[in-house]
Amino acid sequence: MANYSGPVCRLCRREDTKLFLKGDRCYTDKCGYERRAYAPGQHGQARRRKQSNYGTQLREKQKVKRIYGLAERQFRGYYFKAIRMKGVAGENLLQLLERRLDNVVYRLGFASDHAEARQLVRHGHFRINGRKVNIPSFLCRANDSVAVKEGSRTITRVQESLAAVERRGIPRWLQLDKDSFEGKLVSLPSREDLTMPIREQLIVELYSR
Ligand code: SF4
Repeated sequence: MANYSGPVCRLCRREDTKLFLKGDRCYTDKCGYERRAYAPGQHGQARRRKQSNYGTQLREKQKVKRIYGLAERQFRGYYFKAIRMKGVAGENLLQLLERRLDNVVYRLGFASDHAEARQLVRHGHFRINGRKVNIPSFLCRANDSVAVKEGSRTITRVQESLAAVERRGIPRWLQLDKDSFEGKLVSLPSREDLTMPIREQLIVELYSR
């Protein structure tokens, strides 16, 4: 979805689940999926046909790609990296995605969705362990500190996101100090820390075909 600029609520309706791509709106009754929980398009309200194994695996992969806003090539790159790591490939894949700087910025509440987080990172508003990093795919490590640059703390979008962060909650592998605009990776995320309904094994099966 790196280049996707269409209506994002369609993506939730296509995947038949909330992907939380639209900031605060996702938590209100204006959520497109809450209002129309059927697939987009002319035949969206027709009964969904039973999916083949391949179809189920493909949809799972598309769902995760869309959650993190990645293009196919980038996403596949994470898969190949994950299978070269020790441990369970599917869990490694999710951990790599969670460790991306744009995701950490979003999870800490400095941005209201992944797209906004990516833009803020690209514009150089963050410091990792005191050093400027403007690469959204930068992989954070345990004990890294992620802070909003001093001159960027007055940005309205950052302040508004932080004000609403309680509603979303901070995952337990992250720690946030709102007053100093600084967060920390207490540890690397484990599978239990990821609460989205993702069946990563299906993605591994798809790519190992
Ligand atoms: Fe998805 Fe609802 Fe957010 Fe739209 S508002 S992106 S449908 S969760």
